[in-house]
Amino acid sequence: MSNRVVDVTVIGGGPVGLYGVYTAGFQGLSVRLFESLPQLGGQLTALYPEKYIYDIAGIEAIKAKDLIESLKGQAFQYDAEVYLGEQVLDLVAVGGHYVLKTGSGEYPTKTVVISGGLGAFTPRTPDIVGLEEWEGRGLHYMVQDPLRFKDKRVLVVGGGDSAVDWALSLADVASEVILVHRRGSFRAAADSVFRLEESLVSIKYYHELSRLEGEKHLSRAVIYDNRTQEETVVSVDEVVMALGFVPNLGPIANWDLTLEGKSLVVNSEMRTNLPGVFAAGDVAVYPGKVKLITVGFGEVATAVHNAYHYLHPEDRKPVGHSSNRQRA
Ligand SMILES: Cc1cc2nc3c(=O)[nH]c(=O)nc-3n(C[C@H](O)[C@H](O)[C@H](O)COP(=O)(O)OP(=O)(O)OC[C@H]3O[C@@H](n4cnc5c(N)ncnc54)[C@H](O)[C@@H]3O)c2cc1C
Repeated sequence: MSNRVVDVTVIGGGPVGLYGVYTAGFQGLSVRLFESLPQLGGQLTALYPEKYIYDIAGIEAIKAKDLIESLKGQAFQYDAEVYLGEQVLDLVAVGGHYVLKTGSGEYPTKTVVISGGLGAFTPRTPDIVGLEEWEGRGLHYMVQDPLRFKDKRVLVVGGGDSAVDWALSLADVASEVILVHRRGSFRAAADSVFRLEESLVSIKYYHELSRLEGEKHLSRAVIYDNRTQEETVVSVDEVVMALGFVPNLGPIANWDLTLEGKSLVVNSEMRTNLPGVFAAGDVAVYPGKVKLITVGFGEVATAVHNAYHYLHPEDRKPVGHSSNRQRA
């Protein structure tokens, strides 16, 4: 935790927030980033890591996860404070600046750029009584480091890009990987599905998770065939529920910001109704708004440049001028 008053705090580590971190660093501003998920990338990493994106200016085609890697490299060439797995819960004005409250503490900042997208993502969970009791005891909602599953028997539940991707990456390290999918085919990218079918992953089509069992740590998963209801007990060490994430604007809706539906109203400088608080990307709305990554990049550059003017009203030179640039 840091009590340092930074120039800019970016809330949300999706593509727009990452580009905002870069822009702030480029302007020589000190910057802090909060992301509620334990990974960066927003919708691109959480919802469609393997999908190709064709509409980024100057890039013919790029996988979503590769675009995020590239944005991370660009953003972190400057000295940014990054907090993963920390949702910003409150924003309070205190003596000319703001204090952001998270589960771990209070973080002062002079300006705020909200790039919270559709809101904080929480894992989608099936309706299984008592499932949450296994969190921290073998139940996971994402695979951050496949090596953590080395030589383990892993059951992955889901049929989208994340489920297929994670099953494939675990197949290289785990002793056994079983993928349970409630349908007879996958929604994931065709190339990934092809690789999955060629891999050592054991696929259980038309199956769903019924319950988890074990003592201190889970040791069994009970799955069932949704056509016949017949149950099978599988010995496992770890279970990854890869059913996607549900976005929720959550606490941001309670910060006295002007809302239109679930979006924050901004002007052409990307200012919200609160002084020094800007918004960009999917979370921001104005007449004619288009929700696209490239649009968000432009918006966050505008937001950070105007945050610079807010912090340096005496400095009349156009922002983006190379003399502002200061590498860490
Ligand atoms: C299936 C699909 C395909 C798409 N394909 C394309 C495409 O081809 N081209 C294109 O341009 N666009 C595409 N889009 C849209 C694109 O993904 C969005 O426009 C983009 O993700 C917006 O980026 P963002 O950074 O504003 O928000 P997000 O990507 O939603 O990221 C916001 C982040 O903020 C975090 N957050 C929210 N609230 C808080 C809080 N209080 N504290 C901390 N963190 C918080 C969230 O956890 C999230 O990680 C697609 C969208 C989908 C769903």
